Amino acid sequence: MGYLISGGTVVNATGQQRADVLLEGDRISAVAPNLSAHGHTAIDAQSCLIFPGFIDPHTHFDMECGSFSTADDFISGSRAAILGGTTTVLDFAEPYGAETTNDAYRNWRQKAAKSSCNYAFHMTLPRWENDTAQQMETTIANGITSFKVYTTYDMMLDDASLLCVFEAAARLNAVVCVHCEDDDMIRAATQMLEEQNKTGLAYFAQSRPAESEAAAVARVLRLAEQSGARVYLVHLSTAAALEQVHLARARGQEFYAETCTQYLVLTQDYYQSAEPETFVMCPPLRTQADCDAFWVALADGTIQTVGTDHCSFTHAQKLASGAKIGAVPGGCAGVAQRAQLLYTYGVSKGRITPEQFVSLLSSEPARIYGIQERGCIAPGMIADLVIWDPETRTTLTHDNHQHACDRSPYAGMQLAGGARTVFVGGEIVADNGSLIQAGKGQYLARK
Ligand SMILES: [Zn+2]
Repeated sequence: MGYLISGGTVVNATGQQRADVLLEGDRISAVAPNLSAHGHTAIDAQSCLIFPGFIDPHTHFDMECGSFSTADDFISGSRAAILGGTTTVLDFAEPYGAETTNDAYRNWRQKAAKSSCNYAFHMTLPRWENDTAQQMETTIANGITSFKVYTTYDMMLDDASLLCVFEAAARLNAVVCVHCEDDDMIRAATQMLEEQNKTGLAYFAQSRPAESEAAAVARVLRLAEQSGARVYLVHLSTAAALEQVHLARARGQEFYAETCTQYLVLTQDYYQSAEPETFVMCPPLRTQADCDAFWVALADGTIQTVGTDHCSFTHAQKLASGAKIGAVPGGCAGVAQRAQLLYTYGVSKGRITPEQFVSLLSSEPARIYGIQERGCIAPGMIADLVIWDPETRTTLTHDNHQHACDRSPYAGMQLAGGARTVFVGGEIVADNGSLIQAGKGQYLARK
């Protein structure tokens, strides 16, 4: 029983080697050159790379947004994830209305029950109340050790509430993910545009200025510093925010920073395109100079992880309330393409090494979020892994991106490399672009 993967190059964040990989049960039992099979099924990985299963630290599957839910639920979203080599997602559980975090936990466990990839959750805290610290403890007991707070939208927290969350998180040794955009600055910018009748999506980027992200990052980092919390800045999009990250690191503060694929390969020029709604997301797409700054930040270690913020809507959903600023739900589909995009524009172009690719997509998300026994190919680790064919070529279209929506912001791109065979818990779940075992995902309770 088990598999012998032979002839490939094993890539970890710490280095790469030509080695065979033996899988027995749900574990990796050996990694060494010239292993021999004893009743194992042989898998030829000649000219392929073998990566630890990718972990997407930032997805939104089956999330309510106004009157509808995101296009991808856990069935379609996790299928897309697996086809792209992502074997674990960290999705955001969110209390709706007056629900408690415990309600949200139960709701998301149910939503995710048929997931094809492994899953863990961050818990959104939409407000700070007397019992929130207690709810955070219960959430941690449920295996969710990271929380999410916002500095914009209806569920934004003011600075006093942020401090309360940060202090509780520091005491409970939890990570706090923070969406950083200064709400006042966004409201002011939006109002100014409205006064000039500039409400079309061509002005979307201006409605959420780069400075609003940098200002919120600076403030959040100071609040975290004061409270001793470990924060994780989600989906950073601007060079201005990176400046604040550098300043805080220079004074010795410890925290994590994430960007997303869209902020690496797409620019705000798309708001002038024929279908700008496809590119409406928060924060918005930025300039080429911002993209360039993020590639440098990936290579020099300023950024720890690349997520997707996968939050998909159909084109009809995007336009249901009109093509105006504030009316189009924000978010795009991308969970299937994260690794291909980072490989094509990062590894193939020599901007990051294959080891950094693994660090950004797998080992750092595992380390930061306490995903045990994953993120590395070594004896004893869980056998979540990807046989990656660097020679695969894909031209992405609005039809072949694998998500349950009819647009991809990456349509037209030529992608290099792709997941050929994907293992979850020692079993093949996808091969040559097809999901062959659905529903193999498990809930990963964290400690
Ligand atoms: Zn998000």
